[in-house]
Amino acid sequence: MNFDRIRPSIDVDRMQRAHVTVVGGANGLTRDLVHSGLGSVTHIDFDRIEPSNAARQDFDLTDVGRYKAEALAASLKRLNPDVQVTYLVRNFCELSEEEVDQHLGQSDLLIFATDSFAAQARGNIESLRLGKPALWIGLYQGARAGEIVYYAPGITRACYRCICSGRYEAFERQARGQAAPPVNVPSTGGTIFDLHLVDAIAGQIAVGLITAGAPNRMGRLIGQLDQRNLLQVKIDPNYTLNGRDVFGEYLGHHPAQFSFNTIALPMEPEPDCPDCATLRRAAQEVTPCEQSSNDTSRATPRAGRSRSGSSA
Ligand SMILES: [Zn+2]
Repeated sequence: MNFDRIRPSIDVDRMQRAHVTVVGGANGLTRDLVHSGLGSVTHIDFDRIEPSNAARQDFDLTDVGRYKAEALAASLKRLNPDVQVTYLVRNFCELSEEEVDQHLGQSDLLIFATDSFAAQARGNIESLRLGKPALWIGLYQGARAGEIVYYAPGITRACYRCICSGRYEAFERQARGQAAPPVNVPSTGGTIFDLHLVDAIAGQIAVGLITAGAPNRMGRLIGQLDQRNLLQVKIDPNYTLNGRDVFGEYLGHHPAQFSFNTIALPMEPEPDCPDCATLRRAAQEVTPCEQSSNDTSRATPRAGRSRSGSSA
């Protein structure tokens, strides 16, 4: 595969050395990362392909009945025979911690693209425990808007749980049998255009996380975003959230504002976040002497502390 024409924007050499683990249905996004030079993929998904998937998920009708993970692996190999692909037909929530270590421990990026809140939430726990960059993709209200949350160890402070704390509260209310908004948002209504629109933005964040610091457009992206690790994509021109025109609140109401635009919101950590507060406190406890005498913790302080913190 000749990457000469994307090298001005993407550190292809780092992409080729990189390993990404994808949980759930990020079929088009995973293919686009391989188009962009990604060298190694692990895909975890237990679903089979249904006829309705061909209408919006980059699967062919001839794939109906196959496991999604198996079909994606074959499609990635057709795209680039050099890509290393491993797939697991498993429910991510049912993997043991040892299996997570085995399959996610060598990854440079974790991508969570499931309809299952429980799987997205476990993704947060595991990315923090392993100190891995991670990306979550979701759709609101029948794909009338999209959501991308990411975590960059040592850079972003708010984790997925800090950012989506309302969803966690709703989940806990439901578990107690109380009324709450749905947390497993069905993507019915979303078209392939909606998925590709959100994937196109998520893919650039993914390349930015893998190649952070490279002297090119994608390599600069995560530093430029800084603490703005919640991105929302307006898809339906009439999208509102609980009656609020959230995009209009940020972007104004100029007649040129219509749709298909993105806002990147600065996020602060929740002081008592059950997932990340201990980790953040541990990172703050690292003294300057420790930092200067330990190259690993200096390079990725939170990543280094997360491993020692999780085993304590
Ligand atoms: Zn948190």
